[in-house]
Amino acid sequence: MAETIAPTDHLNATIPIQWYEFNDAAPARSLCTDCGVSRTEEPSRCASACQFIKPDYDRAEITAHGRRRDAENPEEVYFGVHKQMYTARLSQPKAGAQWTGITTTLAEQLLREDVVDAVIAVGPATDDFWKPVPCVITDPDQLAQVRGMRMGYAPVVACIEPALASGYRRLAVVAIPCQVYALRALETELKASGKLDELLVIGTPCSDNTYTEHFHEFLNLLTDTPEDVNYLEFCTDYHVEMRFKQGGVKRIPFLSLPLSNLRSDFFPMTCRTCVDYTNSLADITVGYMGGDGQQWLIVRNKNGEHILSLLQDQLVLTAPRAAGKRRGSVAGFIENTRRAAGGLPLRKMPNFMRPIMGKLMPKLGPKGLEFARARIEMKAAEAILHLEQKHPKRARHMLPWFIGRQVSGYAISTASVQQDRHVK
Ligand SMILES: Cc1cc2nc3c(=O)[nH]c(=O)nc-3n(C[C@H](O)[C@H](O)[C@H](O)COP(=O)(O)OP(=O)(O)OC[C@H]3O[C@@H](n4cnc5c(N)ncnc54)[C@H](O)[C@@H]3O)c2cc1C
Ligand code: SF4
Ligand code: SF4
Repeated sequence: MAETIAPTDHLNATIPIQWYEFNDAAPARSLCTDCGVSRTEEPSRCASACQFIKPDYDRAEITAHGRRRDAENPEEVYFGVHKQMYTARLSQPKAGAQWTGITTTLAEQLLREDVVDAVIAVGPATDDFWKPVPCVITDPDQLAQVRGMRMGYAPVVACIEPALASGYRRLAVVAIPCQVYALRALETELKASGKLDELLVIGTPCSDNTYTEHFHEFLNLLTDTPEDVNYLEFCTDYHVEMRFKQGGVKRIPFLSLPLSNLRSDFFPMTCRTCVDYTNSLADITVGYMGGDGQQWLIVRNKNGEHILSLLQDQLVLTAPRAAGKRRGSVAGFIENTRRAAGGLPLRKMPNFMRPIMGKLMPKLGPKGLEFARARIEMKAAEAILHLEQKHPKRARHMLPWFIGRQVSGYAISTASVQQDRHVK
């Protein structure tokens, strides 16, 4: 039975931004990020649309990009199908954006140039700045209201139905990877039924997401004034950056984060077993992990090229660089994750070493694309180890072949990873 969703207009009643606050809890499912499919008219589509049930990334990539990632090209094994990659920034950064605002400005341009009728994205809840609430936007000026990152899960995909019902047949969606997998699965069916003409996807990478309530616990450990924090990012120079409403900035080295004080289920099993860090099914991915202090664009197909072309005169683009060596930090991470997944105590650095290493890591650690590769290998290892430990039956359905290739240089069993069916 489809849930009735109530549009609210909580930021400004005079503007055509349609918010969809889902007050009811999502249907209880194991390994679910409430992407929205279970709240549509046909919740049974979860069986074929979910990245946590039986995903088929090869088929999804062929549908989205016309081909699957090239198994002979190490860059594609890591970053997915792509035509170009860039380090990027907007020449005039946008206020309130997570980085410089490329994501929301691309969506804005799609509306301005009449390429799409509406954009589905997420913005802040009325009562909680950090809680993501999905919305349908038709006025390009309103993209400013949804800038910035929220921690938590929002049923973005469920907004497709009210958007189509309003007559918007050409849609753009800003979404994270587990939402995009489901979106792509529904796209074929919606186009075949004649309801949808166009779906453009601007994706962001995603890792280490958690419930908004858990994130508040984390904020409380970082500062005495959590209610004043309006920005947080895990930066590539190994610091968490927090900004405050009053204008202050606080930067904490990763090694000094109070991670051992967090509850053991702080990160849900979904986000520990997620296999698509770079949002490989988006037309264009806008992240920062390979950007060496700037934004990082992965243009995947013709639609992605077209989307980017609308912003060309506002962007500063350069070739991404890579520096440093990732192997040591990834091997150490894998060993600790193996211990954690098996319930063993973690190997901790002595306290006196932390400030020293906190200063050295930005200088010695991997940078640019090497940093992104390190994070991808860590995520792949984490998914294998946690699935084998907690969901062994699901592991062989959830781990695509490229996950095995990403960790092939480390001492980790890939027995539960799917074989590459294209290999003769
Ligand atoms: C939970 C989370 C984890 C992330 N982890 C990484 C990472 O490890 N590496 C990396 O390179 N990038 C990561 N990103 C993406 C990164 O934070 C930036 O959003 C991205 O680089 C775009 O910056 P921008 O200035 O162009 O975005 P903006 O122009 O400010 O637009 C950001 C848009 O992101 C969308 N968004 C924000 N929060 C959510 C959410 N919870 N769910 C769905 N959509 C949301 C909204 O639609 C918003 O409009 C993550 C994003 C999220 C939401
Ligand atoms: S498709 Fe979405 S709603 Fe359905 S089980 Fe998967 S994550 Fe949950
Ligand atoms: S880490 Fe993966 S599963 Fe978790 S919210 Fe991000 S995309 Fe979804």
